[in-house]
Order: sequence, then C-alpha cells, then structure tokens
Amino acid sequence: MPSKAINAARLHGHIHDLAQIGKIGETGVCRLALSKEDRAGVELVKSWMEEAGMEAYIDPFANLIGVWRGSDPQAPVLMLGSHVDSQPYGGRFDGAIGVLGAIEVVQTMREEGLQPACTIEVVAFCDEEGCRFNKGLFGVRGMTGKLEVDELDRMDKNGVTRREALLEFGCDPADFEGYAFQAGRIGAFLELHIEQGPVLESLNEPIGIVSGISGPLWLTVEMTGFAGHAGSVPMSMRHDALLGSAKIIVALNELVRREPGAPTVGTVGSLSVFPDSRNIIPEKVSFTIDLRDIEIRRRNAHETELLSIIENVACEHGLTYTIREDTNSEPRYCADWIKESLHQEAALMGMKPPELMSGPFHDSLAMSHVCDYGMIFVRCLEGISHNPKEYASPEDISLGTELLYRTARRIVMEKERFQG
Ligand SMILES: [Zn+2]
Repeated sequence: MPSKAINAARLHGHIHDLAQIGKIGETGVCRLALSKEDRAGVELVKSWMEEAGMEAYIDPFANLIGVWRGSDPQAPVLMLGSHVDSQPYGGRFDGAIGVLGAIEVVQTMREEGLQPACTIEVVAFCDEEGCRFNKGLFGVRGMTGKLEVDELDRMDKNGVTRREALLEFGCDPADFEGYAFQAGRIGAFLELHIEQGPVLESLNEPIGIVSGISGPLWLTVEMTGFAGHAGSVPMSMRHDALLGSAKIIVALNELVRREPGAPTVGTVGSLSVFPDSRNIIPEKVSFTIDLRDIEIRRRNAHETELLSIIENVACEHGLTYTIREDTNSEPRYCADWIKESLHQEAALMGMKPPELMSGPFHDSLAMSHVCDYGMIFVRCLEGISHNPKEYASPEDISLGTELLYRTARRIVMEKERFQG
C-alpha cells in the first residue's frame, strides 16, 4: 500500500482532544446540540479549521463552516463534513471523524501546495442527532432551506425552546429572515462516518463505500378486538387484538427475510396493550412498524403485502384496524461518478472496499436534495454506536480519511465542473 498523505498523528490527536469535551466515563461523550459542551466543541474545532488555513464562521443555524477559497469564485463548492454534536450517552467517533477528517484533508492539500480552482468548505452541521428537540438534521436543513414551520418552538425536556437555545449559543434566529440558500452553489458533498452497524466487521473490511441511504417507512397500526374475561370466553369466540398483532409481527419478520442477501429490515419496536391486564382478553393494541430498504420498489411491494397480511389477520380474528403513516421517505442514492472516484482511489491504495447501504440517516440525506453526494463508512467494533463503547480503530479511521483526501483531491484537480 502506498504511504499515506494525511498526517495520522495530528488527526488522532484532534479526535482525542475533542473527546475530552463533554466526556463521560472513560470513552463516552455528551455534547447535546446547542449546549455549553457543544459550543466548547465547536470553538475547538473552529480553531483547528483556522490552523488548517481556513476562514471559519458560525452561520445563523449554528453550523460551523470553514472556507478555503479557490481561485475561481464561480466554480461550484466541494463541501466536506458531518457533525460534532452527540447523543446523551454517545461515542467519540459518530460525526466527529467526518469533520476532523475533512479538516485533515484541507490541511494536507495546503501542505502539498495544491491550489484548487473551486472553494472547499468544511462543515460541522448543528444538531444532526435530534435527541434534544426530537427532530434531527437541523443545521443542514436550515442551510439548505428546508426548515419546517414552528421548528423554533420545539422544546427540550427542560422546557427550553430551540429559539432560546440558539440565542444562548450565540445565533440569532432573526437572521433566518435574510438567509436564502443558493441553489447550485454546492457541487458535491462528501461525508466520512462510522458505519454504526456490523456489516463491514462481518466482511472483515476496514472501510466501505455507501450506495445510498435507505428511507424509512414508519407506520402505526392499531388493532381493535373485544375485551372479555380470560377465564370464561371460549377460545373460538375471542377477538384478541394482541394475538392478531403478534401474528402480524411474526409475518413482517418473515416477509423482510424472504429474499436472501437483500438489505431489507423491518422492526416493531413499540407496542401498547389495552387494558393491559392478565385476566382480560386484550381489546386494543397499537404498535409501530419501521420498514427500510435501499430499493423503493421492493419496499413498496413489501408494504403492499404487509397490508394484505393485516387485512387477513383482522378477518381471521374478527378485529378492526387503522394504519397511520408517520414517515415515508425515499431512499437517496450516492452519485455514481463519486462512487466511481472512490472505487478508483481505493484501488490505487490497494483496497477493494465493498458497497453497502446506510440504514441510519446522516447529514448527507439532507444534502442529497441539493447536490451529488458520496459517503465513506469506517468499520466499528460490533456495530456499536450511540454508546460510550463505540469504537473504531485509528488504522481504519486513517484509511477512511486517506480515501476522503484522495477522492477530494481527484474531484477538485480533475473534475471539469470543479475547474471553473
Ligand atoms: Zn452521526
């Protein structure tokens, strides 16, 4: 394998130092979006952007943006980044490696004396996680003009609104008024992220190239039967809503596992039973369904089949039901030309990374609506994430960052549209 261009010691020093802010236990972090810890993290990362030769500022949506100006202000921008906020009981690598890796990319290019025509921007998006105000991807949706009404009135569990938290952080939501996203300004977005799943580890591969981010279909199903005494109503006369729900849950599991090798996943993660008593036949059961696939056609076919299963089970057990659709987002695919660049650069490094889809969403999901995007995944131990035990090895992170560097260099030095 050719030697690396990036400075791995500097990169891992940054990862270590950022993990000291909001540190919990030995290896965990808690940097909730727009908190004091988040602000301290953003300030530290800003200082590294400046050290790397970028001008850095915080935009009205609390995104930290580092700018390295190209020689042609008309050329579309290459944007690199991720987020540095965390879950309340989070790990050191989720988001952080994508921002710190991107800074390393720019610093390495400058040290190599490169001067691209296009501007490169490194961004740490505000509130990717969404745990504090129960809605994620805030910063990237703000930057790309996709905020929803009343978003600033969302409250955290202490009654603090997002508006108040932004002001406390040093951003004025009044500035949203004068802001407009310039369509076409950004030519491409690259994000490096830990996988947060066990696929790369199972394949014994340090890094992977993301094919796309699967969109979830979220449904809430409510089955209604008839309550009765658990001791006296004969089995043949029951309308047991829990029994029907159980059959649907098992059928969903069989449905999504049917096609060998397909990445389809289906989960029932929440269930409530009424009246929830050991000697009453359950009358009402509601449960959630989370169905994901990178192929929308297969997901839609599964949904159709699931609806007929629900209908059949309801008939069989004398139940009525309602189905509410809570979320229905389409999969968003990585750009073929970026995947191709990633594969070619990986081959030059002596690697043949597999392609895999992302089940979780990332900042890239929102970026996919405004520009082409590509993602690199780094293997993480046992797929653990959103947990202080989250771990990715320095060697794997270095490989992912080197691939990010080489691909970014290829894009800005060779791709015509980035040449002004
Ligand atoms: Zn993340």
